[in-house]
Amino acid sequence: MSRTAVVIGAGAAGILAAAALALVVDQVVVLERDALPDGPENRKGVPQGRHAHLMMAGGLDAMDTLIPGMDMRKHLIASGANEISLCRDMVVFSSVGWFHRWRHADPLIVTCSRALLDWAIRTAVLKSLNNIEIRQAKAIDLLGDSERVRGVRIATAGPDTPFDADFTAKYGLQLSADRGEADLYADFVVDASGRGSRISTWLGSIGVNDIPERTLDSGLVNSTRLYRIPEGAGSWPLTMIQPNPFTGGPARSGMIVPIEGNRWMVSLGGSRGGEPPKDPDAFLQYALDLPHPIVGQLIAGAEPLTQVFTSHSTSNTRRYLEKAAVWPENLVVLGDALATFNPLYGQGMSVAALGAQALAKTIWHRWGSQGLARRVQREVAKSVDAAWTLAVSSDVLYPNVIGGEPTATDRLAAQYTRRLTRSATGSYSAASALFDVTSMRKSALRLMQPRPLLAALTGPALPSLSGPPLTPAEQETLRGLIRAGQMGQGPQPSA
Ligand SMILES: Cc1cc2nc3c(=O)[nH]c(=O)nc-3n(C[C@H](O)[C@H](O)[C@H](O)COP(=O)(O)OP(=O)(O)OC[C@H]3O[C@@H](n4cnc5c(N)ncnc54)[C@H](O)[C@@H]3O)c2cc1C
Repeated sequence: MSRTAVVIGAGAAGILAAAALALVVDQVVVLERDALPDGPENRKGVPQGRHAHLMMAGGLDAMDTLIPGMDMRKHLIASGANEISLCRDMVVFSSVGWFHRWRHADPLIVTCSRALLDWAIRTAVLKSLNNIEIRQAKAIDLLGDSERVRGVRIATAGPDTPFDADFTAKYGLQLSADRGEADLYADFVVDASGRGSRISTWLGSIGVNDIPERTLDSGLVNSTRLYRIPEGAGSWPLTMIQPNPFTGGPARSGMIVPIEGNRWMVSLGGSRGGEPPKDPDAFLQYALDLPHPIVGQLIAGAEPLTQVFTSHSTSNTRRYLEKAAVWPENLVVLGDALATFNPLYGQGMSVAALGAQALAKTIWHRWGSQGLARRVQREVAKSVDAAWTLAVSSDVLYPNVIGGEPTATDRLAAQYTRRLTRSATGSYSAASALFDVTSMRKSALRLMQPRPLLAALTGPALPSLSGPPLTPAEQETLRGLIRAGQMGQGPQPSA
């Protein structure tokens, strides 16, 4: 008998979950409420797409295992993305000073717009696996009971988008009297409907209640604006002013990320009491007032291409579904529907990819076994743990955080990370351990290995830097951009 799986949401988590399921079922149906664009374009269902998205090395590796015959790194670069070495191509001012740059390439991450990332992942999966289809519809509830999920109750995405006749016929959909709703039966269901998922309500409706949940909210606001890369700055490194959790004040950060189309995506972040503005002039001033003005200096004379977009969807929220007293067969929750993180750490997409990889590994070996969905949910939780600890143990230190006080363990972990970061500014063995973990290639245990431990004890091998580690050519470019900014040569927004 033919097996069908349904995935709710065609974001990164949903598309990668579909790739995982395509290896064990005959047909995967991805339900998406948005009409999906043919190219890399922003869309309503992914408002965070306006903001900088780093794709970590661990996430790229996971995607390669999920999409047969595809090298995602190459595919993204061929589509216009940049490959960036965390050691070599990044200029970082941390809470304990400037990082030296190293000749080593690894780990390599990818930067591009979120729209390009989603489009490249979607096209790669649909090209490599021919038993996945995307249907425009909105999931509104689960079918089944607390023992077994049997499908999804769906509704049309809107009054002007009735169910496709082909969709209705292929899956034998029995439409409601007004033709606006139907039941779609399936052998397996994945909820990947993102941060706004209604999964807790849906679980309640089938009798699965009391799911432990935690939210830690630093009140971070992210403000982002696109700029044309100024002439001569085409290979400018990724530039980052990191927040300092040890000042007792709010987090303030800034980042210039090179993306496709010769553009810089400039994102400023500030926690409660230090929020970055939406006003364009104040945006520049905020960047200039960061603990080092380099981000502001670089953009002062650059041409803005858009207005400033803000995002308040930045809390850390986790549903501990793996701890539910009962869990139905055939249901798994992935991506932001399961856990969200402060975006400063650039982890969500990689956690989604690692979660889909855990799904693939578990169903491949155990398809049809009793308790499969619960087993998957436990495996997926492991891919959330490291990212969750990293985000929460730092965020809890900022003032006016809602949802928790720092524990003795948080403070101890923060002190160790601070010492290690200080060593990493001028010691390659500490830097590579830190980058392995932040790029999600290795678990946090990597930080406790003898070399990084020793480095944390002995401090940086190289003297600390008094300014950004720039090559002579980069210094010249920066001087030119500072001059252009001072002379008020920065062109006005084009739109
Ligand atoms: C400001 C900001 C910056 C970020 N920066 C980074 C970064 O640098 N690196 C990184 O890795 N992550 C980053 N993230 C996190 C990242 O955006 C998320 O982790 C990622 O989008 C999760 O993917 P997802 O597929 O789970 O959810 P989404 O991408 O939100 O996709 C969910 C999909 O489900 C659809 N949907 C929702 N409800 C329904 C329904 N009922 N029926 C049908 N379809 C539905 C939506 O339309 C959407 O297409 C950032 C987040 C923010 C807010």
